[in-house]
Amino acid sequence: MARSGPKIGIFGGTFDPPHLGHLRVAEEVRESFPLEEIWFIPAGSPPHKERAYLPFTERLHLIELSIRENPYFKVLDIEREEKPSYTLKTLEKLSNLYRDKDFYLLLGWDAFMEMESWWNYQEFLHFASLIVFSRGKGNWNEASRVVDERAKRIWGPKAQGKVFFIEVFPMEISSTTIRKLLLEGRSIRYLVPEAVYFYLREKRLTSP
Ligand code: ATP
Ligand code: MG
Repeated sequence: MARSGPKIGIFGGTFDPPHLGHLRVAEEVRESFPLEEIWFIPAGSPPHKERAYLPFTERLHLIELSIRENPYFKVLDIEREEKPSYTLKTLEKLSNLYRDKDFYLLLGWDAFMEMESWWNYQEFLHFASLIVFSRGKGNWNEASRVVDERAKRIWGPKAQGKVFFIEVFPMEISSTTIRKLLLEGRSIRYLVPEAVYFYLREKRLTSP
């Protein structure tokens, strides 16, 4: 059933730590789709990843600091208790809690490519539409077709009008790179929001 309420982007991830790539893609998808709001949802303990570098409460806090000035961005802690956290369960919970909202799951290209290893991904479209966006530089001419084909293979005719691809400005930043810089004692300034930089510096997790 189609929902007529506000279009909300659901942006899940480990955000370990959040960086400017996350914020920029969220902003661009919100603006160009367009969506009314983007809800950031840090993963409790992602099933397909090893343990996070920063604990959940710290990742949540860093997102809060990062999005404070943006009225269209919100952060939800609904995966706090979930160990491991399943995207499908989160989507189901959200659609029960917010019955009027029209949800769109945001997935970067890499996340979309590994989606078929996620728990019950075939059920995603019951609760949300899907917006896949480009990640980094590259030739994205074929991406829209690849997304369409995959969507048709997985969801059949139900995918019609529910799965989208958007090319966004390339931001070659990953949390992996940032963690590596932190571990080497190097600066992460200007790769992350200033508030994240100052917080981690305060915690002596990055160089002065
Ligand atoms: P890690 O290196 O730890 O995997 P990450 O930078 O990939 O971290 P995640 O928290 O894994 O960040 O990503 C959450 C979502 O954000 C995913 O859908 C991912 O594709 C997307 N994403 C992260 N960084 C970028 C970026 N620089 N450009 C586009 N999409 C991104
Ligand atoms: Mg990642």
